[in-house]
Amino acid sequence: MRQIVVLRLGHRPERDQRMTTHVGLTARAFGANGMLIAAQDMSIEKNIDDIARRWGEKFFVRSGIKWKDEVREWKGRGGKVCHLTMYGINLPDVIDDVRAAGDILVVVGAEKVPAEIYGMADWNIAIGNQPHSEVAALAIFLDRLHKGRELSRVFKGGELQVVPRERNKEVRRVSHE
Ligand code: SAM
Repeated sequence: MRQIVVLRLGHRPERDQRMTTHVGLTARAFGANGMLIAAQDMSIEKNIDDIARRWGEKFFVRSGIKWKDEVREWKGRGGKVCHLTMYGINLPDVIDDVRAAGDILVVVGAEKVPAEIYGMADWNIAIGNQPHSEVAALAIFLDRLHKGRELSRVFKGGELQVVPRERNKEVRRVSHE
């Protein structure tokens, strides 16, 4: 099965905790296997681990990584690197080529990203050429990559599952006995 990992660049623990947590939750909800964070932040690792344990499926978070080493290793193993940036080639023009590739490392920034990533990426991809958000960009990228199928995936192995309702909230506890 294809591996999809998100690499979060530029995380500042004092400012970006909420946004980086949302990047991780979006990655998990839309079919990525894990997230690498290019700064140490154990609290995000713990928050997302807790959510994955309660709501199901495996999702890893590793913070404090050396991003250039990770990108080189990923490419060395034959994986491809997609850097999401408003300055790139618009998604509809490259998504078929990306889908045909194997494992994918999806890179998103916080503020300005290091210039080297533009050269290291196999594709610099814009989700439209207007500035918006890494969370929105990642969600649309993963949704298009999977052709919308992740919206109907049932997450297995968790403690909780939503029972979809037109009104009110219903969550059921799942027994694994
Ligand atoms: N001017 C910055 C730049 O270099 O793209 C904007 C930073 S933006 C607040 C944070 C991240 O959101 C970017 O690093 C990129 O990953 C993502 N992003 C924002 N707009 C995007 C777009 N239109 N297409 C793809 N990614 C986008």
